[in-house]
Amino acid sequence: MKNLIQGQTGLWEVVIGLEVHAQAVSNAKLFSGASAVFGADPNTHVTFLDAGMPGMLPVLNKACVDQAIKTGLGMNSTINRVSVFDRKNYFYPDLPLGYQISQFYYPIVTGGYVDIDLENSETKRINITRLHLEQDAGKSTHDLHPNLSYIDFNRAGVALMEIVSEPEMRSAQEAMAYVKKLRSILRYLGTCDGNMEQGSLRVDANISLHKPDTPFGTRAEIKNVNSVRFLGQAIEYEIVRQLEIIESGGTVVQETRLFDPTKGVTRSMRSKEDAMDYRYFPDPDLRPLVLDEARIEAIRASMPELPDAKRDRFIKEFTLTEYDANVLVAEKEVADFYELIVGHSKGQGAAKLIANWLIVEVFGAMNRDGKNIDNLPFAPQHLANLVDLIIDDTISGKIAKDVFAKMWESGKAPAQLIDELGLKQVSDTSVIEKAVDEVLAANPTQVEQYRAGKEQVFGFLVGQVMKALQGKANPGVANTILKKKLEF
Ligand code: ADP
Ligand code: MG
Repeated sequence: MKNLIQGQTGLWEVVIGLEVHAQAVSNAKLFSGASAVFGADPNTHVTFLDAGMPGMLPVLNKACVDQAIKTGLGMNSTINRVSVFDRKNYFYPDLPLGYQISQFYYPIVTGGYVDIDLENSETKRINITRLHLEQDAGKSTHDLHPNLSYIDFNRAGVALMEIVSEPEMRSAQEAMAYVKKLRSILRYLGTCDGNMEQGSLRVDANISLHKPDTPFGTRAEIKNVNSVRFLGQAIEYEIVRQLEIIESGGTVVQETRLFDPTKGVTRSMRSKEDAMDYRYFPDPDLRPLVLDEARIEAIRASMPELPDAKRDRFIKEFTLTEYDANVLVAEKEVADFYELIVGHSKGQGAAKLIANWLIVEVFGAMNRDGKNIDNLPFAPQHLANLVDLIIDDTISGKIAKDVFAKMWESGKAPAQLIDELGLKQVSDTSVIEKAVDEVLAANPTQVEQYRAGKEQVFGFLVGQVMKALQGKANPGVANTILKKKLEF
């Protein structure tokens, strides 16, 4: 049995369900024409409606509805032909209306699933409960002034898609894989930019423990986690905390907690006893949202190839391993870049080698120098050329790494660099034969040893030949000639 945790009183199973708040990509807010763009000066993107002035009427932004439909289709969900906007009533300084417009009883999207990628190329299907549209709140800042709080309403009213999963994840790893996959799908669809630092994607994690084959335990909810790494840390911490409580005879209380990334702990924010009665009721200012078939079909027709489909195609078309394909398709930009390079190269034969070079050398240099795929210091066709030069034996894979390093520094084409640096591989058998003869003459002891059966010295002799030709000898040719000469 996997994923069970050994406690003092037996095995425990972790149960996790996630609520993801994904900001819908849109120029304007969900019910007002104010800009939804991040990073403006405080309170410059605020209409009378966003500020909660009396008598203002919400007007539904169609673009946000389209994003919700598209996201639903991307998760294989049911798009509900009728959904309803409800008022969720509560008082909070960052909520000027005194209520949040959300969808409670009749959400726009129900059902569906996301397949997550686990270690050892395993996948697991996580079912989606629902996706509903709702308004974001404003942002309070309490640490800018000794006795005043500041409030910024730029975010108030921005469209969020709240995506609720079934409680089907069983470890921190699965929860992290789920958020990564969902984020990847949203970014492919262009329905959410997935920027977790800017808060465009925030995660509430519900966690509980129970003994297998018994009813679920009481859960705690960790609010507003804004990185995948923190999500993993928060869940790991929470598992240990709950296990200690239950096994020492206590009970977990249903409560909302916050994760403190600097201390690595979760802390209680409010317990369920303080839970509010939101008095949900249909917003009388908004009619039910009715979708017609043609609109849904038009969006379906505009769906891009999603990561799972692209991964399967890469495996088939380019004979990549599942692991490599998953790495390449995680970000659409990387997948596009990969296909662009393959297009510039000698094609299918080069595709596997290009995948290798991208994942090992290019990603390595990117991490080292803090670059990303849209600001690489070389042109895509240059990487294609480099791999082609390995394939046609102009340079060895080892020399290619030196050429790549120079290409990364200078942006020059590999052919030019090979010329300038005199790195062209020597495949000319007469040149290599001459070098082999010299090496054999200069190392009679090792030659004796080899002929007496000590085969390890072969490596040393190859090394000497390579050295004599500054590492440029075609290794295959050098090996063959050396072997042949040693036989006599
Ligand atoms: P609420 O509206 O109070 O947050 P929901 O029933 O909508 O409650 O559930 C919210 C999330 O909590 C969902 O993602 C669901 O999968 C998850 N969840 C429900 N019960 C449990 C449980 N016992 N343990 C872990 N997660 C749970
Ligand atoms: Mg909740």
